[in-house]
Amino acid sequence: MKIKSNEDLSRHTTVKIGGIADNYYIPESVDELIQLTCELCDYKILSAGSNLLINDKIHIKNVIYMGEVCKDIRNMGNGRYYCGASVRIQKLISVINKDGYGGIEELVSVPAMIGGMIYMNASIGNDVVVLSDHIVRVDVICQGKRMSLSKEECGFEHRASRFHSDDSIIIGAEFQFPEQSFEISEKRRKTRLEACKQKLDFSGYNFGSLFKQCDYMLMSRLARLGVKSGRVSLSHKTTNWLLNNGGGTYKQAMSVIKICMLSHKLLRKKAELEVCVWDK
Ligand SMILES: Cc1cc2nc3c(=O)[nH]c(=O)nc-3n(C[C@H](O)[C@H](O)[C@H](O)COP(=O)(O)OP(=O)(O)OC[C@H]3O[C@@H](n4cnc5c(N)ncnc54)[C@H](O)[C@@H]3O)c2cc1C
Repeated sequence: MKIKSNEDLSRHTTVKIGGIADNYYIPESVDELIQLTCELCDYKILSAGSNLLINDKIHIKNVIYMGEVCKDIRNMGNGRYYCGASVRIQKLISVINKDGYGGIEELVSVPAMIGGMIYMNASIGNDVVVLSDHIVRVDVICQGKRMSLSKEECGFEHRASRFHSDDSIIIGAEFQFPEQSFEISEKRRKTRLEACKQKLDFSGYNFGSLFKQCDYMLMSRLARLGVKSGRVSLSHKTTNWLLNNGGGTYKQAMSVIKICMLSHKLLRKKAELEVCVWDK
C-alpha cells in the first residue's frame, strides 16, 4: 500500500477544488483495505472524485483512495459479471459489449468508478438508464467484515442509496446484463458521446449536476442572470451545472449554491443537492 502525506485533494476532484489530506492511503487489495479500516478510526473514501466538493481550507486526517483496491472484472456466464469497485465504468461497458451484452452504454459519459457510481446510484437524465437496475448484489466492508447485500437491501433511489447513511465501503458488485449485439452497443455509445459534445459544458471544471432535484427553468434563469462568485459560475450551456472557471474556491462555490437554494426557497420550489460536500 502506498501512503502519501499532505496530499492536495484538488488534484483528485474533477472540479479542481479541495483541501489537504494529512494521510492519503492507496490500498492495493481488499485485505489491505480491511486492515487499514480496522486501524483507522476516522477516514473518508474517495473514488474518481467526480461528485465531490471539498472545502479548500480544511485538513482531512485520513483519505482512502479506492482506485487500486479491486480492479477485477469476472465473466460468470450468461450475462452475469462480477466487477470490482475500482473499475472505471468505460472499462466495464467495453468488456460486456465485446462479449455480446449491454444495456448501460449511455453511462459511458460518466467519469467515475463502479464503487462511486453505486454509492451515488448513477443514472442518465431522469433515470432513463440506471446502473443499479442491473445489480444483483453489492459486496461491502462493514465494521471490518465482508458482507453481501441484495439489490433490495441497497435502498436505491434517484441519485441516492443506503450507503449515504451507513459506513459501508463498496468493494464490488455482481451484475446481470441482457444480450445486445456489438453493433447496437456501439451505436448507443457513439450517440451518447455525440449528445454530450452538443449539450455538456466543458469550458470549466465541474462535478456534473449540482442538484438532484431542482427547478430547471429557475436554474436556467439564474444562469442567464449571470449568477457567479469570483471564478465560479453557473453554466449557460448545461442547466444545473456549476463551473470552476480556473482558480475557483470552495467559498465561491458555496456562495453560488446558497443563491440557488435561496431562490428556490423564495419561490417555494424544491432543491436538493446532489454533489457530496466534505466540509470537515
Ligand atoms: C462531466 C461529468 C458528467 C457527469 N455525468 C453524470 C451522469 O450522467 N449521471 C450521474 O449520475 N452522475 C454524473 N456525474 C456525477 C458523478 O460522476 C457520479 O455521481 C459518480 O457516480 C461519482 O463517482 P466517483 O467514482 O467519482 O465517486 P466520488 O466522487 O469519488 O465519491 C462520491 C461519494 O461516494 C463515496 N464513495 C465513493 N466510492 C465509494 C466506495 N467504494 N464505497 C463507499 N463510498 C464511496 C464518497 O465518499 C463520496 O461521498 C457526472 C460528473 C461529471 C464531472
